Amino acid sequence: MFRISKYMQQLAALEQGADLSTLNRRGAASGPQRLPGPVVIWNLIRRCNLTCKHCYSISADKDFPGELSTAEIFTVMDDLKDFHVPVLILSGGEPLLRPDIFEISQRAKAMGFYVGLSSNGTLVTQDNIQQIAAVGYDYVGISIDGVRATHDVFRRKQGAYDEAMHGIRLCHEHGIKVGLRFTLTQDNAHELPELLQIMQDEQVDKFYLSHLNYAGRGNKNRKDDVIHQMTRDAMDLLFETCWADVQAGRQREFVTGNNDADGVYLLYWLQKRFPQHVAAMRDSLVCWGGNSSGVNIANIDNLGEVHPDTFWWHYSLGNVRQRPFSAIWPDTSDPLMAGLKASPRPLEGRCGACRYLDVCGGNTRVRAHQLTGNFWAEDPACYLTDEEIGVEAGAERLTVTPYRRSRA
Ligand code: SF4
Repeated sequence: MFRISKYMQQLAALEQGADLSTLNRRGAASGPQRLPGPVVIWNLIRRCNLTCKHCYSISADKDFPGELSTAEIFTVMDDLKDFHVPVLILSGGEPLLRPDIFEISQRAKAMGFYVGLSSNGTLVTQDNIQQIAAVGYDYVGISIDGVRATHDVFRRKQGAYDEAMHGIRLCHEHGIKVGLRFTLTQDNAHELPELLQIMQDEQVDKFYLSHLNYAGRGNKNRKDDVIHQMTRDAMDLLFETCWADVQAGRQREFVTGNNDADGVYLLYWLQKRFPQHVAAMRDSLVCWGGNSSGVNIANIDNLGEVHPDTFWWHYSLGNVRQRPFSAIWPDTSDPLMAGLKASPRPLEGRCGACRYLDVCGGNTRVRAHQLTGNFWAEDPACYLTDEEIGVEAGAERLTVTPYRRSRA
């Protein structure tokens, strides 16, 4: 996840004469920041009342057999706590369809996890908002794919937009931090300004722009992926909106996911707007280090299979029924995990030769794998030009391994 707000706040501090170098030097010396344990996105249930076009889990409104029981989930939670996992994002399918969702959530809160709920919002109603509020979720994220007509088409349900917005308002009225989660595609990119206005009108706390990933149902819609210029325009708009927010003293959060080239693109935005701060911000972004699937981000699916992130559902690292998460996660005998945990990762093509690899981390490996079958090929969704990443157009590309650099 790329936290635009964090970097805009740092930019504001730089503008006021702050010196980030001590902080950055310490961070840069130890490489990208590693959390004590990964953030775990936990798909507790595959069932969903909607069948969205870009769903990575290919859910349906039916029960899926073999899902983890309440008791099994509690056992895994104990292990996650001992393993210093700081954050649980409870997701689905639609997590509110699990009859024990509040029992699980309350236990997670009582154990001291930061607990987020990721919902389509349509099942947040007057009937359950008291229970939702009573859990004390640290954050509720609700997916919105555009304005009413677009959202209802994406979600394949008439009225889904109004239900989701109603859910957002209920959360807001009950003092729950709530965010919009927006997956950017060619069909909805033009509605981003309107959505940001809705965010303002509805006093939404957080905006999460998710780039389309090639996994699950998203993979079948690859041709619909937003073209690179649209991505750049969307990012420019988010940067400007967030910067205006910070200057106005507002506390809203803007984050993106699934395209770590966003960090590099921020440097190019700064080059245009605040060239004097590019060097300091680059150091800061190196401390972030870009993609952290398999390192700071983990996924457990509804059956207990562990994956490097939510888009690797076709690739299991092990099952928590057979082996504790705390044993699965550090095990680098798996080649994908070995590479994801390597520093630098054994990247090839543009990513291997990129001069911003230390900022981006080689972006999203599942896209490279889906397209080429090679975990370490260049990410096809990088929207930076060869010139921007320091690879001359038409020049021979370099293949980089952790140990040596050689001509491909
Ligand atoms: S070329 Fe690869 S490493 Fe460089 S910015 Fe693009 S996706 Fe990131």
